[in-house]
Amino acid sequence: MQLCDICNAANGNAFEKAIISTDNESDNGESKSNKCYICGNLALQTDKMLAKATELLSAEMPEAGSFSISSNIPKDWIVREDRVWDEKFSKKTESIKNSINRRIISSLAKATNKTYKTDAEYRIIFDYKNGKISTENGAVFVFGRYKKIVVGLSQSRWKCNKCEGDGCEKCDGKGKYYESIEERIGDPLKAAYEANDYVLHASGREDVDATNSAGRIFVIEIKNPKKRNVELDRVTKEIETGKEVSVSDLRAVPRKFVEIITESHFDKSYKAGIEFGKEISKEDIEKITGLTGKTLLQKTPKRVAHRRAILVRHRKIKDIGVLESGGRNAIVLVTAEAGTYIKELISGDDGRTEPSIAALLSTSAKCTSLDVASIDDGFIDFIIEKYV
Ligand SMILES: [Zn+2]
Ligand SMILES: [Zn+2]
Repeated sequence: MQLCDICNAANGNAFEKAIISTDNESDNGESKSNKCYICGNLALQTDKMLAKATELLSAEMPEAGSFSISSNIPKDWIVREDRVWDEKFSKKTESIKNSINRRIISSLAKATNKTYKTDAEYRIIFDYKNGKISTENGAVFVFGRYKKIVVGLSQSRWKCNKCEGDGCEKCDGKGKYYESIEERIGDPLKAAYEANDYVLHASGREDVDATNSAGRIFVIEIKNPKKRNVELDRVTKEIETGKEVSVSDLRAVPRKFVEIITESHFDKSYKAGIEFGKEISKEDIEKITGLTGKTLLQKTPKRVAHRRAILVRHRKIKDIGVLESGGRNAIVLVTAEAGTYIKELISGDDGRTEPSIAALLSTSAKCTSLDVASIDDGFIDFIIEKYV
């Protein structure tokens, strides 16, 4: 086993010389070919690629004060690097990808006098399989709040799993099961930024059959945009004309907001329509409002059990009131901790949620409409004012 100097450096100079044979493998012929065990000498293209990247950054993008990079390292290097680790070390050292990235960043910064930034306008891609350099424009991140006005939209794009988006008989030729909030927001932004693609990152999601009139925070990543400055007010209006989704508070934010948004959880209020198995009385309404302050034990609902681990959540009902009632129907307003399953609070989910409205009233109860009425996310405005 022998390594080139780049792979050797990436592995903490585990071998004494850059290209070296270990004792037990020195005679097997592998060493005579002078090929690096991990990269087959492809990592040695680094200097040549760096020279090209330096030229590109200085000559073609003189106005860019910063750059970002990414390296495409063939998967089989990683597999063989694992083997080297297994044989030479008791614990893993830095990965070859990290080490190569660090080398590229420090050399480029030195050679071009530009600063490395994860959010830079230009991204240089080092493709180690072909020894080629390419560039794309760094992603733009747009923060906002969306309202979901109609039911029947999924949050993310949901491709047909049979045809992978090409269109087949299973999906009626559409290539997808649902239209999505992601497309309603992403398509107009993609056009405005003259970008290639987009990805929506949000703090939680509604069910397909629920609406959201509160406004849910999100960050949408706009990939490889040709433009970096866009009149976001105009895009806001354009999204609204679709009458399915509306957005507010759009603004460009740093990449780190993706993590801030997706890891945030907020208490929410829901407006839920309920249909009962009997006519409900004044005593029944009192039983429902008596749930205020109670903690629910919610076993993972049947409807999501196929994609979530089975566990028991403890979630507090902070407030519950009956807004309207008549005959077998009622509308309730529930404020609950983040992650409460509202449909199951109503139905009881065959005893998997306790207590429940159905069990309290000794009748069946079904959620017929669900709207996210408010989200307690003021904390995010504070972060944005402070850091953007
Ligand atoms: Zn190598
Ligand atoms: Zn299909």
